[in-house]
Amino acid sequence: MNEVMNKSRSVVAYFSMEVGIETRVPTYSGGLGILAGDTIRAAADMKVPMVAVTLLHRKGYFYQRLNAEGWQTEEPVAWVPEDFLMELPGRATVQIEGRPVQIRAWVSEITGAGGFLVLVYFLDTDLPENSEWDRHLTDSLYGGDSRYRLCQEVVLGIGGVRMLRALGYRAIARYHMNEGHAALLGLELLDEEAKKAGRPTFNKDDIETVKRLCVFTTHTPVPAGHDQFPVDLINRVLERREVEEMKEFFCCDGMVNMTYLALNLSHYINGVAKKHGEVAQHMFARYTIDAITNGVHGATWASDAFASLFDRHIPGWRQDNFSLRYALNIPKEQVWLAHHTAKLELLRYVNRETNAGMDGDVFTIGFARRATAYKRPELLFSDVERLKRIAGNRRIQIVFAGKAHPNDQDGREIIHRIFEVGKNLKQEIPVTFLEHYDMEIARLMVAGVDLWLNTPQPPMEASGTSGMKAALNGVPSLSILDGWWIEGCIEGLTGWAIGGLPKEGDGPRTNDAAILYDQLEKTILPLYYEEQDKYVDIMRHSIALNGSFFNTHRMIQQYVLKAYFE
Ligand SMILES: *Cc1c(COP(=O)(O)O)cnc(C)c1O
Repeated sequence: MNEVMNKSRSVVAYFSMEVGIETRVPTYSGGLGILAGDTIRAAADMKVPMVAVTLLHRKGYFYQRLNAEGWQTEEPVAWVPEDFLMELPGRATVQIEGRPVQIRAWVSEITGAGGFLVLVYFLDTDLPENSEWDRHLTDSLYGGDSRYRLCQEVVLGIGGVRMLRALGYRAIARYHMNEGHAALLGLELLDEEAKKAGRPTFNKDDIETVKRLCVFTTHTPVPAGHDQFPVDLINRVLERREVEEMKEFFCCDGMVNMTYLALNLSHYINGVAKKHGEVAQHMFARYTIDAITNGVHGATWASDAFASLFDRHIPGWRQDNFSLRYALNIPKEQVWLAHHTAKLELLRYVNRETNAGMDGDVFTIGFARRATAYKRPELLFSDVERLKRIAGNRRIQIVFAGKAHPNDQDGREIIHRIFEVGKNLKQEIPVTFLEHYDMEIARLMVAGVDLWLNTPQPPMEASGTSGMKAALNGVPSLSILDGWWIEGCIEGLTGWAIGGLPKEGDGPRTNDAAILYDQLEKTILPLYYEEQDKYVDIMRHSIALNGSFFNTHRMIQQYVLKAYFE
């Protein structure tokens, strides 16, 4: 019923290379996919008519194993799409390197707090009609070489639009490209316009028409995060010479840059936090770039203990994350108790998986994100002797998690070194590294630690969302002022900063580790151990000030106002 309704209403079509609908559907790698899932869940809660398109990723991102020395190995994630998704009879076809490639779709229904549905379509090329190579196009998220990646983007962008048509969607008000991977959808829309007008190719008017339909969110200032393909490869895969003639559309030296394609075909463009909006504006000066700060989906990320606490004190918070503001009225003992319950749940998992012997009464630091150099996961270990002295006075224990991208050798070595340091510290400071960071482990960690640590090299952290998940669970952050934390940090009230605001012309940040240790030693640990009442006050403010704002309910409203139905 609902589906039929959606198809005739004007909808937002949300395209994302990865979508995290739940932990057992491994079609996400990290922040981008989780954000996509949280966006879709919020659209369902807020009754925003939306459909989402992504790829099936039969082998997932990868299953991470860590050996005794902390070296990562990767395996395909074994999962059974039939157990979670419903196969649809519709088919779409795209041309890849001159071959027709057939696509089918699987659907998941995401139900909002009020019963409203948003459908997510997972595209799949594993059909007997396709060649062996083509059958594997929708297997691996961020796997393979650039040819493989480009072919995936053809399936997502061009195949995605065609699949929506095949499924009966006519009135699509907006196409939202979540990152540049989906930018080829613009090319398909241009073709549709030309065809409608009976022209063989599109023209400037078509570009204006398509621009009015498209919205683009850019997610990273890191250059490797922006897809580029050699023009030759584009010619081979798409077999469309006119693309070469559209150089001004793609920019730069024999490469086709998907970010530029998306920028050129969108009337609204945004970064994912205020600071990131500025950084992106600087990177892409010819365009007008706004900012909508990311959020997280409250009901997804609140631990069971906090969800039931909120249910008792803030009825309706699931439909309306803004009402988390009233967390200030929840008695402190109950906040502490809910936190302690979440903490014991995490530590039970940690101790069972890693035999770390962690103690519910010991101050616990959490650090989990992709293991890569700019996130500086080892900053906490820059001066191990100092860390030991701090822990000698007031005990600490540390839980790490995170995958390294299979091609990121630096990232692999970081995990290994954290393992080594952890082993040497064992007597003084229990340190553990959990395998296979996924939504479930994230949910345990963000709620179960006492402090969420984030130490990126500014201004590389576009937003960051795990600290928002922690805030929702009353866990304050100790973080570099970058991404969302510039907006979320009220020193001593919602958490603590490491150093000042990033400024242009800043030299290397040689002081960050010392500041981190000072904050721990002089402010945070004494509060936690000797002035628990004040620590709980900070926990409540994390929920009331940050949980109530850095959520996808607020975020989706901003997209509605500024980008979707403006
Ligand atoms: C939230 C989340 C992320 C993203 O966290 P950041 O703070 O943005 O790095 C990555 N992976 C998983 C499993 C998550 O739940």
